[in-house]
Amino acid sequence: MTLSFDPNTVDLPKGHFIGGRTISASGPTSGGLTLHRPSDGEAFADCPIASADLVDQAVETAHKALKDSGWASQRPRERTKVLHRWADLIEQEAPTIARFEALCSTRPVGQLIQGDIAITAEQIRFFAEFADKEGGDVAPTSDGELGMILTEPHGVVGAITPWNFPLNMAGWKLGPALAAGNAVVLKPSEMTPYSTLYVAELAVRAGLPAGLVNIVLGDGPTTGQAITSHPGIDKVSFTGSTRAGSDIMETIARSGIKPVTLELGGKSPQVVFADANLEKAADAIAASILSNAGQACVAGSRVVVEASIAEALTAALVTRMERVKPGFTWDEATQYSPIISETQINRMESILAASRAQGADCVIGGGRMDHPGYFHAPTLLTGVDHTNPAVVEEIFGPILTLQTFTEEEEAFAIADHPVYGLAAGVFTRDLSRAMRATRRLQAGTVWVNRYSRSRDHILPTGGFKRSGIGKDLGREAYEANLRRKTVLITL
Ligand code: NDP
Repeated sequence: MTLSFDPNTVDLPKGHFIGGRTISASGPTSGGLTLHRPSDGEAFADCPIASADLVDQAVETAHKALKDSGWASQRPRERTKVLHRWADLIEQEAPTIARFEALCSTRPVGQLIQGDIAITAEQIRFFAEFADKEGGDVAPTSDGELGMILTEPHGVVGAITPWNFPLNMAGWKLGPALAAGNAVVLKPSEMTPYSTLYVAELAVRAGLPAGLVNIVLGDGPTTGQAITSHPGIDKVSFTGSTRAGSDIMETIARSGIKPVTLELGGKSPQVVFADANLEKAADAIAASILSNAGQACVAGSRVVVEASIAEALTAALVTRMERVKPGFTWDEATQYSPIISETQINRMESILAASRAQGADCVIGGGRMDHPGYFHAPTLLTGVDHTNPAVVEEIFGPILTLQTFTEEEEAFAIADHPVYGLAAGVFTRDLSRAMRATRRLQAGTVWVNRYSRSRDHILPTGGFKRSGIGKDLGREAYEANLRRKTVLITL
């Protein structure tokens, strides 16, 4: 069976999802936003904007559902069972989810079922298994006392997710929050809400008490702000830009302190030493910047290469970039993604123009591709230094810069970014050098002789510096959805 589909025949979920049912909302007349398909630029739907009142209703619903359902107080294994059923349903409904995702986002339908959807289902199972295994602790105290550290859920978690991997990002937030016994009010990106809406519906079909997952649609300034500033939201979890992360911290500081996890931007280096396996390094580097057309927080957008192999690596990267073909995300054969919006591709072009004005040489690419929609050619820039806009700014596109070094310490100095510290890659056959690099590089994740996550969900992800606070995935993400209560009893 082909996965390709006609984008004009998809019946999209409409409205918000609150209390286990769809709350309908009309389009632009109610101040909604017109959505465009990234693959061809066609307007195809309207996204309503949830007002502060509607967010309030969602938060109230979540608190009531928590209280009435006993989700947090029941035997934890019951949560595990529901979440496993939900993951199963997500896999069963993969073809439908894939259509929703491929229609509005940058994710090609051919990559979704074995990729994003399978990974999301497995990550939900991964977090589900923590529910009845991770708890508090008994502290060493004197015999006359009993000291305990109890864990309990925060209550209602407010989650805000971006457009680059819409389903995965929803799973990262919902999986650990629900497993730990919380309810959630989630706002997906206004541009890519459909897969999130549908999996929320599937959660209820799997037996999750209605009202524990509520999806409110809307933009950052209205709906996002209403979530982060709401006194009934007990914890905030956000993935997106560093700018929006700063705004959210400010909102939280002004409206009432609450815990917050931020997974923010990056400008990650990939350091290639002359002893590296050049072909394998080129494969990993090209995949990291071409996958989802570079629209990934961890995209390895800065190559830092030993001067003696710079020419050979450049040629190897160009060969890989030349092979890329644009295509509609609803065509099963498509591998290369469009850029999410006209705004994003315009932003990319202006950074590129500024970079060239400051002396960058464009070895390949440099502009839009000849295809409807928002496709940007894979681009490799040389002749840049640490002040060049393409080296400084998170571009979030298929644009790679290449800088050279001659000494190991120089490589690490170039690799350091003044603002970001999300991920870094090192390519070398020298184990001692690899270990020096992992200690020296200022990044929340360091990959050696690879540049990608594996399906080992126990490995957390999150940034240093302004790339974020806290972690997604791993035990850390589960624990971030719990608070700790100290108990001391005189016996
Ligand atoms: P944003 O960070 O602006 O958006 C991410 C999410 O946050 C969206 O749901 C957005 O709503 C919401 N949001 C934005 N501002 C606020 C706010 N003040 N309060 C609450 N919620 C808010 O990303 P953009 O879509 O504007 O992309 C711009 C840049 O962000 C990219 O070029 C890239 O550099 C970076 N980015 C990083 C991501 C990552 O994974 N780290 C993911 C996406 C973007 P809405 O968009 O619906 O208005």
